[in-house]
Amino acid sequence: MTDLAQIAAERGIKYFLISYVDLFGVLRAKLAPACAIAGMQKNGAGFAGFASHLDHTPAHSDMLAVPDPASLIQLPWKPEVGWLAADLYCDGVEVQDSPRSVLKKQIAKAKALGYQLKTGVECEFFLLTKDGKTIADPADLYPKPCYDQQALMRQYDLITGICDSMQTLGWKPYQNDHEDANGQFELNWEYDDVLVTADRHAFFKYMVKTYAENAGFRATFMPKPFNNLTGSGCHIHASLWKNGVNVFEDPRGELGLSPLAYNFLGGVIYSAAQLCALFNPTVNSFKRINAPRTASGATWSPNTITYGGNNRTHMVRIPEPNRFEFRILDGATNPYLGAAAVLMAGLDGIANKRDPGKRLDIDMYAEGYKISDAPRLPLNLLDALRMFDKSEVARAGFGDRFVDSYVKLKMESWNDFMSHATEWERLHTLDC
Ligand code: GLU
Ligand code: MG
Ligand code: MG
Repeated sequence: MTDLAQIAAERGIKYFLISYVDLFGVLRAKLAPACAIAGMQKNGAGFAGFASHLDHTPAHSDMLAVPDPASLIQLPWKPEVGWLAADLYCDGVEVQDSPRSVLKKQIAKAKALGYQLKTGVECEFFLLTKDGKTIADPADLYPKPCYDQQALMRQYDLITGICDSMQTLGWKPYQNDHEDANGQFELNWEYDDVLVTADRHAFFKYMVKTYAENAGFRATFMPKPFNNLTGSGCHIHASLWKNGVNVFEDPRGELGLSPLAYNFLGGVIYSAAQLCALFNPTVNSFKRINAPRTASGATWSPNTITYGGNNRTHMVRIPEPNRFEFRILDGATNPYLGAAAVLMAGLDGIANKRDPGKRLDIDMYAEGYKISDAPRLPLNLLDALRMFDKSEVARAGFGDRFVDSYVKLKMESWNDFMSHATEWERLHTLDC
């Protein structure tokens, strides 16, 4: 059933949050009473594109956000509200740089070839004090804090609150843990169709932030909030399906994966540096992927464009013979653009039969220096944006309008960053 007014009446929904994620990954919304939803389902809710991170001017006509009923999520903690992901239109045309539309275009390309991408995301986050300055739990100090049971159980109410909500929503949550940095957690739920997961990913961030605020904390998915602690990744596990069969699986293939799977991987390896600005979209992102050792002993984040078997020191891990884990993505990754980049690069890999090169089964942190020619990820957002701008794969796969818009807006962000002197500079320059 897709009539939202009828659904509202049946399920007791009084308000709808009609939302979209902008180019910078920020969730924007209007809260509409159920009595107005029929009109909005037909015509959309009006927004000024320039007021969010989209490549619109203040003079542009209204953007209309048309909710997708398939994305409806009734807030488990406030069931009178229904959250909806919307698609954006302006002057009757789909907004080209709307992240959800960018992903849907890649999904349509895959579908035309008979493929469906399924993904699971692992969104790591920190629980901070309300002011965002320090970790929320003053007792969470152990230098090797991964899987710390005591610190995990001190957040029992908050974490099980979120986990119960995921269960109510039918997401099939299956585990929760304390991660490798003090104050850092991860909650996992089942993989699904890539668009379903991307919508859930956007909603998950909202849900975690809400539960944290209700507990008097602040949750952040910022890639590297603390210099000496492991950052927050957002690994994507991906498998490609055709007629209900996982076409990555092949018991005769290396590590149980098919030639097609290796071509998909080859595409991601080939384009990883060029698409890094989508996987790692902020100035801060590059403090995570290029970090030296952290207090816990390892960063668990990649800096080389390499893959291994069940080995977490590479950009890509093959945890089981049915999928890849792309470890490059971080907590700031736009839920739609990160997934779109994986799918676009993977399809390019299949179309061009790209070879991922040799698997490396070494500890990249300890022995990586021996592989002097291992390709490396860009060192900062500027380099990443320049590569994205010049990327033929990105331009062919996404279209010029999206690439130009993204580079323009993100470059403004980089230039703004460069116009601010940091504390580090003061410390290292005052006495020069
Ligand atoms: N936090 C690590 C990262 O930044 C990942 C840790 C893990 O493997 O779960 O990617
Ligand atoms: Mg993790
Ligand atoms: Mg992982």
